Amino acid sequence: MSEHGSPSSPTSDEPGPSGPGGPVPYAGAPAGQPHGEPAGPEAPPEPVAALPWYHEGIRFGCTGCGACCRQQGYVWLGAIDVIRMATYLGLSVPDFRARYTRDVPVPGQPQPGVSLKFLPHGCVFLEDATNRCGVYDVRPLQCRAFPFWPHTVASRETWDLKVRALCGEEAFADGKVYGAEEIRATAGQFVALGPAPPGGAKGGR
Ligand code: SF4
Ligand code: SF4
Repeated sequence: MSEHGSPSSPTSDEPGPSGPGGPVPYAGAPAGQPHGEPAGPEAPPEPVAALPWYHEGIRFGCTGCGACCRQQGYVWLGAIDVIRMATYLGLSVPDFRARYTRDVPVPGQPQPGVSLKFLPHGCVFLEDATNRCGVYDVRPLQCRAFPFWPHTVASRETWDLKVRALCGEEAFADGKVYGAEEIRATAGQFVALGPAPPGGAKGGR
């Protein structure tokens, strides 16, 4: 698992906000500004509440345990997922759809959603003996985005409940540190798939 280092944080060696030696009064005052008056309003610091709880990033390294693929639920597919997987498997789209997918009625939507089928051991593409994904290189966007889904990163509580409990502590001891922007972008990709499906998502999470 790759490691990209820890999120940046101030160290005790760094000078304070005003630099070594403390503040230099009026040094930055614009020409013509009378000394002794404030240099003008400074931008207020970003309120802490505006930062996501994961603003310092999240260290995560998938252990390949396969637990997420074993949960019964839905793996929702967009058109690009279907085409990519059908091509990878050398199947026509209708053949791929017939073999590996199922239509699921979605309340409020005229068209059913398309999900991968599930077998008793889990997703139809999960190789039971090895925990490997049979279509890993072309796995659906939903799977690529996990564990950074909108509802898993919505709060620390949902993260602990939906991800930490599933992946286990080992997955957080080592691995890449995902920055806040990357997390946000990944979750945003998932949103772009469409409206929230019934039952939440893969594995019913
Ligand atoms: S497609 Fe692959 S990664 Fe996605 S749930 Fe199935 S086995 Fe897991
Ligand atoms: S449950 Fe978590 S650690 Fe296990 S395979 Fe899925 S993403 Fe990786």
